[in-house]
Amino acid sequence: MGTFLSKKFLDLHAYTPGEQPQDMAYTKLNTNESPFAPSPLVEEKVREEAGRLNLYCDPECRLLRQRAASLYGVAAANILPVNGSDELLYFAFMAFGDAEHPVAYPDISYGFYSVYAAVNQIPSHVIPLREDFSLDYRDYCGLHENIVIANPNAPTGILLPVWQIEEIVRSNPHNVVLIDEAYIDFGGQSCVPLIHKYDNLLVAQTFSKSRSLAGARLGFGIASSQLVGDLSTIKYSVDPYHVNRMTQAAGIAAMDTDAYYKDNCRSIMENRAYTTRRLEEMGFCVLPSSANFIFARHPRMSGEALYLRLKEKAILVRHFKTARIADFVRITIGTKEQMDILLQAVSQLLDDSDGQ
Ligand SMILES: *Cc1c(COP(=O)(O)O)cnc(C)c1O
Repeated sequence: MGTFLSKKFLDLHAYTPGEQPQDMAYTKLNTNESPFAPSPLVEEKVREEAGRLNLYCDPECRLLRQRAASLYGVAAANILPVNGSDELLYFAFMAFGDAEHPVAYPDISYGFYSVYAAVNQIPSHVIPLREDFSLDYRDYCGLHENIVIANPNAPTGILLPVWQIEEIVRSNPHNVVLIDEAYIDFGGQSCVPLIHKYDNLLVAQTFSKSRSLAGARLGFGIASSQLVGDLSTIKYSVDPYHVNRMTQAAGIAAMDTDAYYKDNCRSIMENRAYTTRRLEEMGFCVLPSSANFIFARHPRMSGEALYLRLKEKAILVRHFKTARIADFVRITIGTKEQMDILLQAVSQLLDDSDGQ
């Protein structure tokens, strides 16, 4: 650390993003991106917008908000566009947490929650998932703390039904419940309609996973106009022009070509079922996933060995050296061709280790 860093950050452990290697071509199944390019209309609109980069973008993102409001069935006042949903998480931790208002989240979940709590000096209340990595919603009912839950969860892929989310939101009326729906488009049911009934529910959505825009950075906070107002205050205090021109145009074009992305999600779900079945035939335990990744472990090969040997074969998956999940690897679901490359490599690794 440098000599000038504020003392309040001395113990900060930053988030570690998945590898984005530039050295060679990998079959990249490590950061849950879409294997599909954005729709042609997105490319066209981004190119047009590039010619206007000399001008600041609309800080209110009016067109984008209107379009998103009709997609999600809410009013424009219920939507805050953000520079990737990570930014929404950051704004929410900043807006609603402090030393007297801890935040509760599961022990196995998205790594950023603990980092955002730490950077904002908010105490974390970490609640263990069950042995099988499912979440017992009753652990969160009547907690009287702010809560953040990814649904489906990451990196497990396990989905909670909407009625359980509703119980959590209903029983914590004086606290904010943030539901991170980064992976909701791969077979889950969104809890967005509940924002009309509960003013303490904040839903995070992203165009990074199901809508092929990870590199553009676009997400949305969806909530009561009161919560959106508080989050806007933070946004205008930090960076009013956070969602750039090209990204605003890309987001609108993506929503105008919704059918294309729905088709892509359908093929990801088919490839997920196919990959799960094939891995199970090879002896893997695969957690039931409602996301565009699966979390799997093999009784005869550690998560780290699998990760390292696949990397030697130019296939990247994600491994976490975290207690409880160190035996697993998280595999992003890509195209059928990518999955066949993975399955073939895994099968060969298992054969090789048999022969030793
Ligand atoms: C990928 C991911 C995000 C962040 O996505 P952005 O690219 O910042 O929109 C948020 N939450 C979870 C659980 C994720 O996996």
